[in-house]
Amino acid sequence: MLTPRIVIVGGGLAGLYAAYLLEQRGVTDYVLLEARERFGGRIVSTPGGHDLGATWFWPALQTQLSQLIDELGLQRFEQYASGDMLIERSRQAAPERMASYFSAPPSMRLAGGMTALTDALQAHIPPEQRITNQYVRRVQRMDAHSEIEADDGQGKPVRHHASHVLLALPPRLAAAIAYTPALPVSLTDTWSGTPTWMAPHAKYVAVYAHAFWRSQGLSGHARSAGGPLAEIHDASGEHGSPALFGFLGVPAMNRQNVEQQVLLAHCRAQLVRLFGPEAGSPVAEYLKDWAADSSTATPADGHGRGEHAEAPAAQTDEGRWKGNITGIASEWSAQFPGYLAGAIDAARRGVDILFQTGKITS
Ligand SMILES: Cc1cc2nc3c(=O)[nH]c(=O)nc-3n(C[C@H](O)[C@H](O)[C@H](O)COP(=O)(O)OP(=O)(O)OC[C@H]3O[C@@H](n4cnc5c(N)ncnc54)[C@H](O)[C@@H]3O)c2cc1C
Repeated sequence: MLTPRIVIVGGGLAGLYAAYLLEQRGVTDYVLLEARERFGGRIVSTPGGHDLGATWFWPALQTQLSQLIDELGLQRFEQYASGDMLIERSRQAAPERMASYFSAPPSMRLAGGMTALTDALQAHIPPEQRITNQYVRRVQRMDAHSEIEADDGQGKPVRHHASHVLLALPPRLAAAIAYTPALPVSLTDTWSGTPTWMAPHAKYVAVYAHAFWRSQGLSGHARSAGGPLAEIHDASGEHGSPALFGFLGVPAMNRQNVEQQVLLAHCRAQLVRLFGPEAGSPVAEYLKDWAADSSTATPADGHGRGEHAEAPAAQTDEGRWKGNITGIASEWSAQFPGYLAGAIDAARRGVDILFQTGKITS
């Protein structure tokens, strides 16, 4: 097998899955470069397995992702939604109780949190082929290969060579890399204009000793106009680790001026308003603001609403980059843009292209 070197930029779900597919097809001449100190990107769980990033998947619609989860031997369970939900129309009005609705098809979660998926993929990729603290800044096309320059986290440049580059980072971040020669402006403009799904959001998780809301006949699901949390759900594990989580309704631009301790106190106070005094004593609390994380969000995401965008072109037909670079992060999926299933779809397409175009031949 002839295996020219492939560089995968970004070690979120798309990058890890692309590396997993290459391994499965016997291709070992690749390297995965990740800017952060950890893999997973928009997937991160607390030590107790509560998700601070992606949580749900829908197997009936997302068959490729569902099959991968089975292939990796991971356990799934349905989002807890038994009991009533609460509606808080304002901070002054008492929350109203009404029957919870169940998502159809059901929203599923992974035992141990969504990091069970990225951990399982990592286990199939040799450690020397997945490198953290590699912030890719420049990509230059030479005669027969590309040179990828990454910052090693201590300001030292590291260079890698590749015949093909798979961009497994959101299009907006991919557009911020310096390309020589430049990519067509029409392409980088569309990439810059593609919002990164969920990048404007922040999640709060409160872990408790008991799921006290369940014994009150409540599902843990709430909608609130009073805030700061706009949408709340039960985040407990299938067999323990009771927890509630909520999406902050305060826009990213306003959150950045508020100290974390203040935001945490407001979130806790809201859970007390909704679920009673026991909510005021979590055993652990977490707040992850994705809009403040430059490995996910750009300043443009701070102004956005986090909508699903139409997938931009993943390749260019013009100039020296033609056939040498492909976008494979979730936003490049036409079927599930921005979703976990989109990362799987776009990565598989990107790897398939390498075989179809003879970049990798067997
Ligand atoms: C709060 C939140 C909730 C979500 N909920 C759901 C959900 O319930 N269901 C669902 O389907 N989806 C959900 N999503 C979306 C889901 O997380 C993403 O679709 C998926 O994780 C995207 O994976 P990816 O690999 O394409 O991109 P990412 O996860 O963004 O990975 C990109 C990687 O590239 C790295 N990187 C960035 N810049 C560089 C650089 N210059 N050099 C090297 N590496 C770089 C990043 O550090 C990151 O690891 C949610 C996202 C968030 C933030």
